[in-house]
Amino acid sequence: MSRPVSPDLDVAVVGAGPAGLTAAHELSRAGLSVRVYESHREVGGRMRSFRHEGWTVDRGAEQVPSRGYRATWELLDRLGVRHDQVPRIGGEVAVWREGRARPGVGGPAALVDGGAGLGPAARLDLVRLLGRIARDRRHYDGDRPHDTPVGAATVRAVAGRYHPDLHDYLLQPLVGCCFGWDTARSAAAPMLSLLAEVGPPSGWRTYLDGMDLLTRRLADTVEVETGRAVREVVQTEDGARLRLDDGEVTARAAVLAVPAPLAAALRPEAPPDEAEFLGACTFSSALKVSCLLDRPLAPTADGRPLYLLLTPAVEEDVLTAVIADHVKHPGRAPHGRGLLTLMAAPGIVPGLAECPEEETKARLIAAAERYVPGLGRATRHTFVHAFPHALPEATPRALHLRERFMRRPTRPVEYAGDWVMLRPASEGAVRSGSLAASRVLSRLGTRRTHSERQLETAR
Ligand SMILES: Cc1cc2nc3c(=O)[nH]c(=O)nc-3n(C[C@H](O)[C@H](O)[C@H](O)COP(=O)(O)OP(=O)(O)OC[C@H]3O[C@@H](n4cnc5c(N)ncnc54)[C@H](O)[C@@H]3O)c2cc1C
Repeated sequence: MSRPVSPDLDVAVVGAGPAGLTAAHELSRAGLSVRVYESHREVGGRMRSFRHEGWTVDRGAEQVPSRGYRATWELLDRLGVRHDQVPRIGGEVAVWREGRARPGVGGPAALVDGGAGLGPAARLDLVRLLGRIARDRRHYDGDRPHDTPVGAATVRAVAGRYHPDLHDYLLQPLVGCCFGWDTARSAAAPMLSLLAEVGPPSGWRTYLDGMDLLTRRLADTVEVETGRAVREVVQTEDGARLRLDDGEVTARAAVLAVPAPLAAALRPEAPPDEAEFLGACTFSSALKVSCLLDRPLAPTADGRPLYLLLTPAVEEDVLTAVIADHVKHPGRAPHGRGLLTLMAAPGIVPGLAECPEEETKARLIAAAERYVPGLGRATRHTFVHAFPHALPEATPRALHLRERFMRRPTRPVEYAGDWVMLRPASEGAVRSGSLAASRVLSRLGTRRTHSERQLETAR
């Protein structure tokens, strides 16, 4: 009688972003044999950073808040990352209105005269909105986005109950910049829950030496193969089979930790309670241009350099924000130099995908001259970062289908990613990674190591 063939691994994880690395870290700690396959040559996913001649460029994510990222902070503590390695961001957040930057967005200044560009009637409505959220605070739980008082209403629909400036000068610029969302497509609930949890921008922080710090630290704790794209994942009788360019890998379980549209393509035969949610989890797209400067130029308000200038769609067609990375943290640029990030307006991103890079850079830099005069002359080098899958859009349909997806039984193929939580932020990715690890552990039902089981099979 032939012996059962032992799978190559306990768990194969696809994707070395924060979700996949968190899942792999938890599963390795539980004593399972785990390997992460990452198509890119570096880990980090949408939280990747890179270094160039003394500059540290954050490709995707820019900041983490002090509050509301419980899973992230717990993980950082466990990895031995000290809180002074995640310093507070310097500079303020402002919104552009009628020819000048108005500071105080998201802070108490927004409620006083002229703050954050809001007039008296809009400020009163902002107080009403914040009061409602505070009153129903426990219902704005980021883990239960389907269960908030605003139901599946879109950002635009919720904003429509208030003064138009709340949409035009607060909610649209925030979701446009932070998530690449169209307010008419995305549900308000995940955004309101996130805002309620993370609090004002005065609590925002960034990783000291690049936003990839968390993923680099996680990758040190697990086995990762970079430059290894997975082409297909098939559920088998006793686990999962992954097809790579140079062969196959078998595992008792697989975790697909890639954006939902990519997960759907890797696994076309997913059962209906998975496939319908995967299909509904569309993503926004985003495009950033990093400008490496020969001097520390930044947008300003009342003479003070800003960290983030939001440029609302009612005022600006080409950009959604200008970020001063060297104001965020001086270590992002060499002494006496600067680093600015120009974020394209969500509406033009699909069109830019067709444009030559030089044209894209020239268009964004020309638009940003209005906010940072002299930018073109000061720019020494540029990088373009395009994200066809930037953030989960969290549409009303995705919100509706998520409940069934979350109730599905555990299976050999599991999923992780910010989209699983419908939380458009790295905290969602970390939480989903922990959740996927628990689901895998509950199904495998053993903490014996892979080598122990191989020994048993050989006996
Ligand atoms: C422009 C931008 C700004 C953001 N700003 C912030 C912010 O300030 N704060 C914040 O908290 N969050 C922010 N985010 C969100 C945050 O980056 C994501 O939520 C987080 O990275 C999602 O992690 P993930 O592991 O789910 O997916 P990803 O980070 O996308 O990781 C998926 C990984 O899978 C790999 N992969 C894909 N296909 C395959 C395959 N077939 N085989 C092998 N590997 C594969 C990819 O290369 C990637 O490394 C931002 C995102 C973007 C795009």
